[in-house]
Amino acid sequence: MKAHVDKSGCIACELCVETCPEVFRIGDDGLAEAYAEPDGSIKDKAVTARDNCPVAVISLED
Ligand code: SF4
Repeated sequence: MKAHVDKSGCIACELCVETCPEVFRIGDDGLAEAYAEPDGSIKDKAVTARDNCPVAVISLED
């Protein structure tokens, strides 16, 4: 699975980082980014992060 953040819409609420720090982090630009692929047990957390992003800018694909 691959994760992607459309930074153009990210409001830097950090919810995804709190939910799934194994995949998401705040980059040098102050916006969220996906730095690792969500696999195995981390997958569910990445899905939760995607579903809870208030501006729906996280996408996941197999
Ligand atoms: S949850 Fe969404 S808006 Fe919040 S930091 Fe993550 S990508 Fe950005």
